[in-house]
Amino acid sequence: MAKILDGRVVRDKFAADLKRKIAKLDQKPTLAIVQIGNLAQSSAYIRQKKLFGEKIGAKVTHLKFSATIAQSKLIKVIEKLNKDRRIDGIIIQLPIPRHLNKSEIIETILPEKDVDGLHSKNVKKLWTGEDDGLIGATPRGILNLIKYYRIPIRGKRAVVVGRSALVGRPTAALLLKEGATITTAHRQTKDLAAQTRQADLLVVAAGVPNLIGSRHVKKGQVIVDVGINLIAGRPSSKKNKKITKLQEEISAPKMVGDVDFKNVSKIVKAISPVPGGVGPMTVAALFQNLVETNMRKIEKGNKRIKRNR
Ligand code: ADP
Repeated sequence: MAKILDGRVVRDKFAADLKRKIAKLDQKPTLAIVQIGNLAQSSAYIRQKKLFGEKIGAKVTHLKFSATIAQSKLIKVIEKLNKDRRIDGIIIQLPIPRHLNKSEIIETILPEKDVDGLHSKNVKKLWTGEDDGLIGATPRGILNLIKYYRIPIRGKRAVVVGRSALVGRPTAALLLKEGATITTAHRQTKDLAAQTRQADLLVVAAGVPNLIGSRHVKKGQVIVDVGINLIAGRPSSKKNKKITKLQEEISAPKMVGDVDFKNVSKIVKAISPVPGGVGPMTVAALFQNLVETNMRKIEKGNKRIKRNR
């Protein structure tokens, strides 16, 4: 049985550390989350962020708009948040409706407040290996988990499955920056198993349940499963034979990753579970970003005061 990379345990350690840091700050770090429309999954993610923020003493402001909001109105909302000194970080909860120009919206966010690391200035810094950019919460959370469990990266072969702007690409860039030799696999990759079997470290972010099974892995590998897939929940009929058809339909969906955990965990050296792996790490990393943007703002303000003396 593989070692479990437990994101909840690590998240709690990070939370305690963030709470201590925030207690010393004059102004509570504040995150603004802009939600457009009403996607249930987005609302669930936002709830998690709010809960975590409350727990560590940060502030989360949730701005909600109709799915029909005009591009120009949304740009004005972001510009206002950019100017607001109290706001340390801005997130546009993705996905957003298709009539909106995502790229223009993201480029409007002030790079210093772009805690999702999506602005081109932050993306460029990550790929060129500069240290002062903001790195998105998921890649940062993945790296924190790997480092916490002292999994070596430098000189190792890392394979990332998925090339999304929010997860796959920045994770590949971050592992490259950390000294890994990287391969990025995606929907067009031929013979995925041949690629994944080459990995020392395999990060899977494809959003496909059971994409990675026993034939994709080998002994000694470390697997990080980033997938969050909600599949219809099936209550065990053995335990409760009286469950009606209707109850079965309305039962809570089950969360699974992209990796066939049951079989893969019998082969590899270490694996992160879903839920309880990368998910909790991501929320913690978001607030690390937020606390850092807050501290940088204060530093900048102090320098300005000194100059004006
Ligand atoms: P996320 O933002 O969570 O990474 P996306 O849906 O935006 O999710 O991206 C999914 C990524 O996974 C894409 O880059 C896609 O190419 C990759 N992917 C999807 N299905 C497969 C597959 N069967 N094999 C390899 N890669 C896949």
